[in-house]
Order: sequence, then structure tokens, then C-alpha cells
Amino acid sequence: MSLKILRQDFDNWMIPVYNPAKFIPVYAKGSTVWDQNGKDYIDFTSGVAVNVLGHAHPLLQQTLRKQAANLWHVGNGYTNEPILRLAKKLIDSTFADKVFFCNSGAEANEAAMKLARKVARDRFGKNKNNILAFDNSFHGRTFFTVAAGGKYEYAKHFEPLPKEIQHASFNDIASVISLINKYTCAVIIEPIQGEGGVIPAKIAFLKKIRELCNKYNALLIFDEIQTGIGRTGQLYAYMYYGVIPDILTSAKGLGGGFPIGAVLTTNELALTMTVGTHGSTYGGNPLAGALATKVLELIKKDKIIEGVAQRHAWIVNYLNKINRELNIFKKIRGLGLLIGAVLNKNFENQANQINISAANYGVMTLVASSNVIRFTPALNISKKEINIGMKRFANACKFVIKNK
Ligand SMILES: *Cc1c(COP(=O)(O)O)cnc(C)c1O
Repeated sequence: MSLKILRQDFDNWMIPVYNPAKFIPVYAKGSTVWDQNGKDYIDFTSGVAVNVLGHAHPLLQQTLRKQAANLWHVGNGYTNEPILRLAKKLIDSTFADKVFFCNSGAEANEAAMKLARKVARDRFGKNKNNILAFDNSFHGRTFFTVAAGGKYEYAKHFEPLPKEIQHASFNDIASVISLINKYTCAVIIEPIQGEGGVIPAKIAFLKKIRELCNKYNALLIFDEIQTGIGRTGQLYAYMYYGVIPDILTSAKGLGGGFPIGAVLTTNELALTMTVGTHGSTYGGNPLAGALATKVLELIKKDKIIEGVAQRHAWIVNYLNKINRELNIFKKIRGLGLLIGAVLNKNFENQANQINISAANYGVMTLVASSNVIRFTPALNISKKEINIGMKRFANACKFVIKNK
């Protein structure tokens, strides 16, 4: 008999950096998840913008099984076919000429910032090392990325932090102008701040940052870990904005649920990262390569991105309908299937309560900051799943209102 697992075991055995929901998911299909008691949930999270094709996609299962039967891991002394196929697909679909693979978003940003520092040092000397990031941004939890992130809360426990990182205000070009200078080697920005509350950058803001980067010989890094892989209605959000970065980081949706991260860049910049300057044991492994290749292939073949705008409209219309009845949101914002419902004054900072109530009513949602309910469903979520999930979400909101 295998060990019977309960939710409270988490509290007994795990380093308590998370406070997971009170149920344990055990099975899932499409955008529906079942817990240990057989209760079903509509999944509006897709594992924080990860399972872009939903859970247990039959062709991803088949790809995983097939690759597992052939080759899992060989190490970086060897290359492999699946990862090279993936590299070619990413290069053919974006501005990039070269790719580096790792296993997560933070690692991708870490590599991107190391690349930027090395390029600047090689070309302009060691004083050009400043990184300009943004307040309220999120770039991951490694030392370098948590320091670049705009939530000092996440970084302060671990001081001293990596140096020469400044923070400008998002969508405030004057603050960028006041901080960027000849010592800046890179600007790192999320085209839409995800964790920070689903806040899209203004088009003019990103365009101006591009100009400033050119002027000061600073590299522009787009952190598209959350906005990538069709989430905004384009393969990457830079395509929507019409602003081309020098370096783009991707993860989350790229593997459709299998861990992988990627750094995309130009030939010229890539060539500064010579043999031995960076690496990752698991990065670029054949399993991740096969799955991410299949994800990109299916997104194209099934015209998944073409369906994002329609799903955006279904969800936003439903949220507006809920709001007309309950008056709880100040505004609905975001692009494509990265949607934030901002709570109004009466419900300030109650995102967490609503999220917990949602789970009780059988729907999984996310919070982004303390005041925003975030919806990042699978890009292929069905209209039926949206309708069921939204009805449950409405009831969850009513419960919170009644028990206020
Ligand atoms: C999730 C996220 C990261 C970190 O990715 P991990 O895979 O958790 O390391 C970085 N940047 C953005 C914008 C993210 O949404």
C-alpha cells in the first residue's frame, strides 16, 4: 500500500514558502481538475500561465511517451535532435538568431542579465554594468532576478544583494530618463507586469525605452515568461507592441507544463557567450525539447492564437456582467488571456479571500498583488468551461459579499 497523503502533510513536511489551497489536485483534463475527493474545478490558472494547451493534451502525452522511450538526458557534452528542432522553430518564429535553454523563467532572466553584463564589459569596459528594472516587476527568485524584481519584500531578507540595479516607475518615461545613462548595460521589463497586477505597458512607453536603449548602448530585455507563447494573442507580446528587444526570455507556457526556459537573442550578442561562460546541466534536455516543439507545432496547427481574442471577450464580458450585478471591480485589464480584475475600494485587498472562496465553489483563479484577481486559463479553454467557471466565480464573489 502506498502512503495516504493529506493536505496537512504539506505543513508537516515542506519548507513553508507556500500556502497551497486546501485541496490536492490528483487528475486533470482540458481545463478541468479533480481533487482527492472527486470534486471538480474549472481551471482559470493553467498552472500560472503554463499549461497553454490545457491538462493532459493527448498529443503532448504521446510526445512525452515517445521521447521517454528514446532519450531523456545526455548532458551538455552532447547535443540532441529535439532541442535543435525547438531552437529552429523559435528562431523561425521570432526576431532571434540564437537560443540558450534552461529549466525555468528565473534561470532565463539570470542568463539574460549575465549576457547583457558580458556584452557591455567586452565592448565598453567594466563600468558599464548598471541594470535598469522596474518597481512592482517580477523576474524570478534567484539572487540576481529577485534583486532586479521590483518587490523589495521578496529580496530584503537576503541582503546583501547584487549591486548596480536601479528601479524606475513602470509607464513613467520621465523616471526612466532620469535613471538611464552611459553606465546602463540593460533595461529589463515585462511588457505586461503579470505578478504585479496584470498591468500592460503603454505602447509609447516601450517605444521610447527602445530609443533610449539605442541612445545609451543598453540592451533591451523583454521578460516574456508570462506574456509569451500566445498568451496575449500574439506568439510574443513584443509583436503586439511592435518593439523588438535585444534579448527575450521565455518559459512558463513554452513547455506546456514541462519545465523549460529559453533566452532568445541576436547572432551578434550571442557570440559574446563563448564556451564555458554559462551553462545548465538539465538545460536543453531532449524531453523538454520534444514537448516544447510539440507545443509550438500544435499552437500553429490548431490555430490556437487565433482563438485567444474570442476567449478574452467571453471572459471579460462575463466579468463585466458579474460587476454590473455585484459592483466589486474597479476595472478589468490585460491582453488576450492574461486578464486582471481589479477590486474596487469596498473590496480592497480581498483578492485572497475571493480566491479561497472560488476554490470552495469549484473554480481555480490566481491573485496578482493583493488587489487583483488574475485569469490565465489555457489558450484552448472551451466556452462551456468558461461559462461553468464564471458562474461558479460569481457565486464565490457573492459568498464573500454576504460574509463581509
Ligand atoms: C513566473 C515568472 C518568472 C519566474 O519564472 P520561474 O519559472 O518561476 O523561475 C519570471 N518572470 C516573469 C514575468 C514571470 O511571470
